[in-house]
Amino acid sequence: MTEITTKVLVVGGGPGGYVAAIRCGQLGLETILVEGDRLGGTCLIRGCIPSKALIHAADEYSAVARAYDGSRLGIGVRSPPELDLGQTIQWKDGVVGKLNAGVATLLRKAKVRVINGWAHFSDGKTCTVESDGETVAIRAEHVILANGSMPVEIPSLPFGGKIVSSEGLLAVTELPRNLVVVGAGYIGLELGTAFRKLGSQVAVIEQLGKVLPLYDDALSAPVDNWLRTHGVGLHLNSSAKGMSADGSTLLVQDTGGVVTELPADKVLVAVGRKPRVDGWGIENMALNRNGRFVAIDEQCATSMKNVWAIGDLVGEPMLAHKASAQGEMVAEIISGKRRRFAPLAIPAVCFTEPEIVSVGLSPSDAGAADTIVSMFPFAANGRALSMEGGDGFVRIVSDRATQRIVGVQAAGVHISELASSFTQAIGMQASLEDIGSIIHAHPTLGEAFHEASLKGLGHAIHI
Ligand code: FAD
Repeated sequence: MTEITTKVLVVGGGPGGYVAAIRCGQLGLETILVEGDRLGGTCLIRGCIPSKALIHAADEYSAVARAYDGSRLGIGVRSPPELDLGQTIQWKDGVVGKLNAGVATLLRKAKVRVINGWAHFSDGKTCTVESDGETVAIRAEHVILANGSMPVEIPSLPFGGKIVSSEGLLAVTELPRNLVVVGAGYIGLELGTAFRKLGSQVAVIEQLGKVLPLYDDALSAPVDNWLRTHGVGLHLNSSAKGMSADGSTLLVQDTGGVVTELPADKVLVAVGRKPRVDGWGIENMALNRNGRFVAIDEQCATSMKNVWAIGDLVGEPMLAHKASAQGEMVAEIISGKRRRFAPLAIPAVCFTEPEIVSVGLSPSDAGAADTIVSMFPFAANGRALSMEGGDGFVRIVSDRATQRIVGVQAAGVHISELASSFTQAIGMQASLEDIGSIIHAHPTLGEAFHEASLKGLGHAIHI
């Protein structure tokens, strides 16, 4: 057995762990990163990046399919598009491969030592890793746990065969004729929408009464509308009960007890994710828990001295950029800087159709009496209309007394690209006047943000 000591040990090479490790390296801290799978974690290897690559491919395909159906833009093609999903997946894997290699290079540049293998802890500061046929024991002064998360399984629909998680669906090389998506959260709907665009028949099962149940009706309605008008079967207030005896259909029961059988070549179970807390010796550490998550304070410190935890392992929002921000912060705290994790807002984006952004407080969070809610529709935005994207809006929630922007929600074509503008406004504590007095380029979607600010001030120009 080889024994190594280091200043910082990071476990997990996802957007939490690898960013923490790079920042530690930049700050001159001797750092080892242990990753059992591929560098990049859930986000880069089987989540954010591959899903957005597939969504892009689906958009390209559906644009050609629309042209074959007869486009109002006067663009036509003589035959329907053909899909080689195997090649699409290969291209998507190429994008992932490039980014994975990029992470390895960045870690090398930051002088972080990467050990490939699964870390198993015997106490708070010591773990062993089986790597390249050798056992390595690592002892560290500081440990950053960034073990991430895993998909939640439904007992009656265990993963395997035609029942897949998002990772499994992102790897299929044959288009399922009938895809059933269990769970109408953002992961289920992003992938369900992409497969619908690629030509699958798609049905969505959701236990609650609406799609995207965590978002308010103004945001979920345009998504609901797209799904219905594009032939996606929505089974709300319903739950998946399991496969039929011959395995060809999924049994779905509504709240009235009525059971429907849906044909299914693939069933995507996307009912949530859970922290990865099993199998790496957490029981040998004195870590307090917050439900299933590892409990932390506002510095991401756990209940054990100099053991830190970040990312999906510690709770909602389970998003890559939150994991990275926590990782950077912990590295800086270890290096002696005074930091705490208190972001004014963390943006959340759904790459559905249309896209949705939510950042900061919504009208219901903020308390209607104390806020101004001002909305500008994309139907009055020239850029949105010129991209056939009139169905959408930007809505600002601002504090009535100070007119400071405390929340922005938006739906519409390419709206994800405005998430940073919205978050910057909240993060820099901008007021309606600040945004209203800035000149926004024409014609851009950003003008809708400008106009929503002017509307809050009582003098929007284009509505
Ligand atoms: P992870 O990315 O899960 O990384 C943890 C790493 O730790 C893994 O690589 C794992 O192999 C490794 N590991 C675990 N235990 C050990 C051990 N004992 N030893 C060694 N290595 C270990 N988020 C967004 O912000 N935007 C999106 O658009 C988005 N889309 C998504 C789409 C899908 C389909 C999915 C599934 C997720 C998506 N997410 C998105 C969520 C995002 O992927 C996660 O929030 C993010 O990856 C969390 O980062 P993390 O570093 O905490 O954990």
